[in-house]
Order: sequence, then structure tokens, then C-alpha cells
Amino acid sequence: MFLVGLTGGIGSGKTTVSDMFRSLKCPIIDADEIAREVVKPGTTGWKRIKRHFGSEVFLSTGELDRKYVAKVIFNEPEKRQLLNSIIHPLIRNQIIWRVIKLFFKGYQFVILDIPLLFECGSMLSYMKYTIVVDCTKTQQIERLISRDDFTKQEALVRIHSQIELNKKCQMATYVIDNSSSVDYTQEQVQRVNRLLRSSKAQWKVRSIFLVSFITISATTAGVCYYHFK
Ligand code: ATP
Repeated sequence: MFLVGLTGGIGSGKTTVSDMFRSLKCPIIDADEIAREVVKPGTTGWKRIKRHFGSEVFLSTGELDRKYVAKVIFNEPEKRQLLNSIIHPLIRNQIIWRVIKLFFKGYQFVILDIPLLFECGSMLSYMKYTIVVDCTKTQQIERLISRDDFTKQEALVRIHSQIELNKKCQMATYVIDNSSSVDYTQEQVQRVNRLLRSSKAQWKVRSIFLVSFITISATTAGVCYYHFK
């Protein structure tokens, strides 16, 4: 199995594209969904956040007040770092666990939808291929205004906090242009899906796993034989 990183800019259409891959039966691991799960009330992440940030970052229901937290971490870099140091390891562990489960289910590849794949960097070296979802900055602003009720200024602050989208496109294996119709995006997703399915990269990883497994088993059997004979 090999890993494919799916990323883009804020509001460029990552979720739209990952839904299209999902409908083509591609397994998807969604880092945003995991980020929500690891801070659910009562979890380790939730307890750690409460210890470091106090009760003011929670709603009366006990859920994390994501809008308030987003504002705090945008304006206070030390708090952003603290929050990242709490939740990033929890997200990474969950991703690794899900990848292992999909590996044993025999999937050829898994797509990891990670919005800050290039910004964080720690997962990048594990990706065999990367897909960047592209659109214009004007479209990002328009989509954020209509979807999240952001002002133009709020949208711009978020866009500028990320690596420029055209730089991400230069680093990508595949770019999906989502600046046009949804049908055109769907066509490109189908093309990338065909390319991924024709890749032989999974055999390299499975061979390494098989050789390591045989080596460890043979060594263990040898040690047991000499120990108990
Ligand atoms: P975020 O970075 O906030 O997670 P995202 O990159 O996942 O966002 P989406 O949620 O997929 O982006 O799309 C942002 C908005 O733009 C959504 O409201 C979506 O319906 C709309 N959108 C996506 N693709 C297109 C398109 N080709 N044409 C018009 N609107 C689109």
C-alpha cells in the first residue's frame, strides 16, 4: 500500500474532491475529522486542553468552542503552538492506526486529506504522491465568505497564514484545477484515480513488509530452536 496526500488552500475544494474520490471507492483518512474526534468531551485531548487553556474555550455543552479557539490561535502564536503540541501527536497516532488497519485490509493505496500537509511537513515524507486542489485566490475568498460568513479581511488572514497555493501546486505530483465547473473537477479526479490505480508502488511496500516479516519470523524461530532443543 502507498500513501497519497491530498491538500490545497483553505476553501479551495479539498472536501469536494475527497468526496469525489470516496465515491470512486478510494479509502480516505480525513485529518479534519480526526482533529474533531480527538477533542471530543472526555477524551485525552479534551482533558489536556482543559488543563492548559481553562474552561473558557468550551461551550456549555462541553464541546470545544472551535470558532473561539480559531480566533485565539490566529492572534496568539504561543497558544497556537501549545494547542498544536497537544493535538498533533494525537492526530498523527490516529492516522497511523487507521493506515495500519487499511494496510491489513489489502488496500492498494489510501488518500490522506491533510489541509496543512506542506505547512506541517512531518507527514510529507511518507507520501508517495501528493494532490493539490487549486483555484484562484478570488474564488477562495468568495467561497469562504459564502460558506463561513467570513468578511473579506477574515478570509484573507486565513489564506495568508498558509503557504501560497501556487507554491503548493509546484510541489505536487498532481494538481486538480477546481476553479471551473464541478463536472470538470470530477473528470480530473477520475483521471488521477486511474493513474493511482495503475501505479505499482504498493508492491514495493508490501515486499519490504513481507521480507521484514519473514526475517523476523526466521530469526525468532532460530532463537527458539537453539534455546529449547
Ligand atoms: P476548508 O479548507 O475550509 O476545509 P475545502 O478546501 O475543503 O475547505 P470545500 O469545503 O470543498 O473546500 O469547498 C469550499 C466551498 O466551495 C464549499 O461551499 C463548496 O461547496 C464550494 N465549492 C467547491 N468546489 C466548487 C466549484 N468547483 N464551484 C463552485 N463552488 C465550489
